[in-house]
Amino acid sequence: MSAQEKHIEEEIQPSEQAKKQDFSADVSRLLEIVAHALYTNHDVFLRELISNSADACDRLRYDAIAKPELTKDNPEFRICAYKDTTNRSLTVVDNGIGMNKEELGENLGTIAKSGTAALMEQMKAANANDDKLNLIGQFGVGFYASYMVAHSIEVVSRKSGSDDIWLWESDGKSGFTIREANEQESARLDGQRGTAITLQIKDEACEFLLDEKIITTIKEYSDHISVPIYLGPPSEVAKDKDASPVNDASALWMKQKSEITTQEYNDFYKHTSGGFDEPVMTSHWKAEGAIEFTSLLYVPMMRPWDLFDPSRKHSVKLYVKRVFITDDIDTLMYPWLRFVQGVIDSEDLPLNISRETLQYNPTIEKIKKAVARKVLGDLDKLSRDDEAGFSAFWGQFGSALKEGLYDAQEHRAALLKVCRFYSTHDNGDKFTSLEEYVERMKDGQDEIYYISGESTQTIKNSPQLEGFKSRGIEVLFFTDTIDDFWLQTVQDYKEKPFKSITKGDIDLDKFEPSSGPKDTSDSDIKPDEQDNEATSKLLTTLQDLLKDDVNNVRKSGRLTDSPVCLVASDEGVDMNMERVLKIHQKYQSDTKPVLEINTNHALIKKMAKSCDNGGDITDAAYLLLDQAKIIQGSPVDDLSAFTRRMSDFMSKAI
Ligand code: ADP
Ligand code: MG
Repeated sequence: MSAQEKHIEEEIQPSEQAKKQDFSADVSRLLEIVAHALYTNHDVFLRELISNSADACDRLRYDAIAKPELTKDNPEFRICAYKDTTNRSLTVVDNGIGMNKEELGENLGTIAKSGTAALMEQMKAANANDDKLNLIGQFGVGFYASYMVAHSIEVVSRKSGSDDIWLWESDGKSGFTIREANEQESARLDGQRGTAITLQIKDEACEFLLDEKIITTIKEYSDHISVPIYLGPPSEVAKDKDASPVNDASALWMKQKSEITTQEYNDFYKHTSGGFDEPVMTSHWKAEGAIEFTSLLYVPMMRPWDLFDPSRKHSVKLYVKRVFITDDIDTLMYPWLRFVQGVIDSEDLPLNISRETLQYNPTIEKIKKAVARKVLGDLDKLSRDDEAGFSAFWGQFGSALKEGLYDAQEHRAALLKVCRFYSTHDNGDKFTSLEEYVERMKDGQDEIYYISGESTQTIKNSPQLEGFKSRGIEVLFFTDTIDDFWLQTVQDYKEKPFKSITKGDIDLDKFEPSSGPKDTSDSDIKPDEQDNEATSKLLTTLQDLLKDDVNNVRKSGRLTDSPVCLVASDEGVDMNMERVLKIHQKYQSDTKPVLEINTNHALIKKMAKSCDNGGDITDAAYLLLDQAKIIQGSPVDDLSAFTRRMSDFMSKAI
């Protein structure tokens, strides 16, 4: 028994008057927001209630496959909604699975989902009401939305298979009570089963005491719900042989595409995902052949707060022949497609099989692969049909999708096709595809150059880019941590290997400069013999001075404006990868980087001269090295030595 349940157990003795229990702190805060901030779009409360009722029916329908006695009194599932103008109340009744005492306390008194803290953080940050509304939707705290229109709510419920009927009651402010329901209250249930939720409507929401308003709201938000929704109390609906549901009451995904409007697609998205945004992509597909299934899948507009939760759980719902089975089979979707929402309805899977066994059913594996291929194909199509929409998608979900590059080899080609990166081409402002990159490659270029780092902003001005920019050679920016990982397994794209520009020696001399080198010196003048000698002397001196810190010091082909940069040696791990690994403390490097110097730079020339004349360049050498570290975001090892040298130089200069 959980602490929560124990708490309820102690608090409530059926014989006594029920004692008031507090909402969890999160719920109280949430309720406050709901009551005050969310008034703009209060219709959605009905959608939330109906959505919960439909879920409850789906769950009982599934349980009844194994235990038909659970629904033998009335195998028809339905939801009824009706007003009572005398009592100024609106009631929503379902004959679904119901809740017992513990579940009432747990489900309606706490926010059961993990990450509540994250929700509250984001709530605090979101200023506009719309943002908060979006957050509420994402976090799926739908039941509480009813406090937008109700000053108090009673929930009468009976868990299927149990005899007790409970009543949960709260004004949404001062906590809640749970006690056994009396006969009159129990009569609210439909055939002694399920849940009846009665809202005492606030004056300012009295429109919900009009049948027309109830009907239009149901039609607007819940038309596609596959459980029929009737207007009127269950007893009357049962008597009326001609009663017809308010909603369409057929599984939307089974209809022909041509019969479904965008509005209906979007409403269904909101129902299944609990989101308030509009999907950027809707993929409705009937797979026929070796396996038969229908999928109606959506890519949301907004990244959910838990996208990078370590569980990497998806939330696609699995149906078998229109019966909801579960949204909890890990093997149904690849983790890197976990942002996809919607339903998959299989014709082949057996109904009477436990959820646990389903997990390993080979049909599930086949569906998973087919669905991934379809979604990737549709994303590729989206990228061609709606560039802005696709860019928005990529910004939100690209880093999750890229996990597939090392997770799923068989989808790699399709994934690489939809991957987008910033690059030097648009100065880091626009996404580019690998295909576009390859089209723009220079004559003689046979590698795809990239630089990785924390953000586009930080790497845009990396000295290592200078030589590439001056020759008009495009370099991709890899700024997601995940990039460093997939690069370990994905060697090339269309046989063009990926090449880090911060690792190893790169010969740029074979490429013509596109816009004359912008070096700080007068480069037209060929360096004479003496210069060359001084340079080699400088190289060996630096090598000697810095031998504890660098593997090698060499002349750089990739610098035009900066005096120095660090690159990883050929055997070493890429510089940024090393930084990432160090942050995660999984890595102790044993290969030292290479310091490259720009022999055309005025500072380097001066140093060479001074060195040639027997001057001491120790401090300058260390400052150069530290400078190279700072610009790439690596820590300076000895800060006090750095500041001492810096001060010395400054005082000389001043
Ligand atoms: P969510 O639906 O996202 O879980 P809600 O706040 O809408 O969040 O509902 C909280 C929980 O209360 C549901 O998950 C469900 O377990 C329970 N619940 C709500 N309404 C009903 C109902 N009509 N029948 C059975 N259980 C319900
Ligand atoms: Mg809900």
